[in-house]
Amino acid sequence: MAIPFFKELRIGGYMVKQKLLGRKRYPLVLMLEPLFRCNLACVGCGKIDYPDAILNRRMTAQECWDAADECGAPMVAIPGGEPLIHKEIGEIVRGLVARKKFVSLCTNALLLEKKLDLFEPSPYLFFSVHLDGLREHHDKSVCQTGVFDRAISAIKAAQAKGFTVNVNATIFDGHPAADIAAFLDLAKEMRVGVSISPGYAYERAPDQEHFLNRRKTKELFRDVFARGKGKGWTFVHSGLFLDFLAGNQTYHCTPWGMPTRNIFGWQKPCYLLGEGYAKTFGELMETTDWDSYGTGKYEKCANCMAHCGYEPTAAEAAFSQPWQALKVALRGLRTEGPMAPEISLDLQRPAEFVFSRHVEHELTAIKEAEKRPPVTPMEAAE
Ligand code: SF4
Ligand code: SF4
Repeated sequence: MAIPFFKELRIGGYMVKQKLLGRKRYPLVLMLEPLFRCNLACVGCGKIDYPDAILNRRMTAQECWDAADECGAPMVAIPGGEPLIHKEIGEIVRGLVARKKFVSLCTNALLLEKKLDLFEPSPYLFFSVHLDGLREHHDKSVCQTGVFDRAISAIKAAQAKGFTVNVNATIFDGHPAADIAAFLDLAKEMRVGVSISPGYAYERAPDQEHFLNRRKTKELFRDVFARGKGKGWTFVHSGLFLDFLAGNQTYHCTPWGMPTRNIFGWQKPCYLLGEGYAKTFGELMETTDWDSYGTGKYEKCANCMAHCGYEPTAAEAAFSQPWQALKVALRGLRTEGPMAPEISLDLQRPAEFVFSRHVEHELTAIKEAEKRPPVTPMEAAE
């Protein structure tokens, strides 16, 4: 399965335009979380541990489109929660496709077969099915038996209707390289591209033990990639991001590359960390202290190698040093020999535990809204 050339071309053209406009920081992918409610409760999930009043909140279709317009990124990824629970999801996706945004709709696929009719195949729409590995591993990861089989069945049903389907896998400690390689073989057989990322140790995730540190991540990915030589696995990542996972690049993250909009507003600084919210995208870009985040700068970032922070860095590197990307494309990923130097953690600032402030703020706002009497039609007309 090849990544459509025109998508690469559009994104390349967008990057050229940003450079010509002299923009130092610009987004590549909007991470749109229209709700946090999910129909699964995966052990590594840092998104669903909210009080019911928050889980019941939804962004409206208009709010989703406004976020896409405001941000201007050429791609919109819709994670969650489970987006297919959102009653307006068909409309939201239609509006984004009409704006010629490449939409990656992330789903655990439990509702996908039932809801396929809400969507129309389009070169702008991709389903990204959450699949962390083969049957036994995935079902354990999502804490429910039978989910793997339902996801495979939904992928086939979507493909039969003409949709493009990718899978997204989060890799945790203890996942054997041989099993990951077998999973990638299966993905190739099923003609689905794979987005793969080491898990980030969300402070809200119930299981803190199974997140990988950077050294282990690189060793594991080297082992996996060595097993894939000549197999033609299709990743929906740039070669340089994979090279970074294999320990061959010293990259700093680009947190503004994939900005996040959810029910709280625009999340500071990135998809993985919620350390404050801005009301507008402009405010997010202007008021976030970007230099205080990233590996080596902030304790919570110490082990992060997630694609949402580093894929934009790799994209920028491919743009500014195309020979590096060419080298990886021609020679393949290096899986032996010394690794690129690691960033020192000596000067990182300690973690601040601020994640619950916005939750309390939102709960207060919800309670106050509930206390207000409903607006009568006469008042509304005034
Ligand atoms: S399917 Fe995704 S959003 Fe739902 S619980 Fe699992 S990781 Fe979280
Ligand atoms: S390293 Fe970057 S992408 Fe990762 S959590 Fe920190 S700010 Fe976010």
